[in-house]
Amino acid sequence: MLGCVIHDAGDLRVAELPVPVPGPREALVAVRYGGICGSDLHYWRHGGVGDFRLREPMVLGHEVVGTVVSYGAGATGPAPGTAVAVHPATPCGRCPECADGRTGVCRDTRYLGSAARFPHVQGGFAARVAVPAEQLRELPDGLGLRRAALAEPLAVAVHAVRRAGDVTGRHVLVTGAGPIGCLVVAAAKAAGAARVTVTDLLPEALRYAAVAGADTLVRADDPDDAGWPDEADAAVEASGGAAGLDTCLRHVRRGGVVVQLGMLPPGRSPFAGNLLVSREIELRGSFRFGAEFDDALHLLAARGEFDGLISRVVPVREAAAAFELAADRNRSCKVLLEF
Ligand code: ZN
Repeated sequence: MLGCVIHDAGDLRVAELPVPVPGPREALVAVRYGGICGSDLHYWRHGGVGDFRLREPMVLGHEVVGTVVSYGAGATGPAPGTAVAVHPATPCGRCPECADGRTGVCRDTRYLGSAARFPHVQGGFAARVAVPAEQLRELPDGLGLRRAALAEPLAVAVHAVRRAGDVTGRHVLVTGAGPIGCLVVAAAKAAGAARVTVTDLLPEALRYAAVAGADTLVRADDPDDAGWPDEADAAVEASGGAAGLDTCLRHVRRGGVVVQLGMLPPGRSPFAGNLLVSREIELRGSFRFGAEFDDALHLLAARGEFDGLISRVVPVREAAAAFELAADRNRSCKVLLEF
């Protein structure tokens, strides 16, 4: 079977891999689509993401949907042939965070296609993947596999909006209109935000934000843009740049909440920290998700506009071209590999 393996920065290979055999309590899934995530692009370009570095070859991919093939010993779940999305996280269930219900920050989680632990957890960009059977989610009625491939990044977005608190009737600022930023827009609108303003440098990215439901689009490099909010109630930083965080702090109201969702560059980041003090702004991190994966699937089933965020579906043999396309935000939002 073909899989997509990252060996080092710039060294992505489509390789023939052995078909995995599902172990005890595992399911074997025939992967149909895998969404290319910003973190996959970071591994490809830089050999790491955030403070996690590649230390051995790793199959990329954690946004995976497909159909059930079979089960290992003692495993049960949806019948073979059933369309499923794969929840990419297996929290430990024993650490203090898991006990508190904050499984997204479990200190011993296993996450598909992540170098956060060693040996790395191999990912799902392969024609077959073996995962714990309890990670399978049957698709809700009306949701096809293609749109369902957005479940993982949408779950990230839903979690980030929740971290901002109750946004019902509120004005939410989102910095960065990449795939995650666009999904944050959709999640904020679905959560009842009255108005969502999005900033980005690129017109094409802002066009996708409009598809996702943004009310106001702002060119981040234009200080005179009429769309800049004086006082948003909450802000979600989805660009992964310190400039975006600084923008959020300057445009959220006093006592407002800023959620840092984008993974900032390794090391330290400069931002206007004194605004936290004088305006009593709350700065909160957001990382992954837990049960929001199921909420994301139902949101995807209910709303067809998400299809407009999928720019292209590319066969796995052309993975190199797919990664180039996904990295070019002048040409794409979400790019899917097809297996
Ligand atoms: Zn845990």
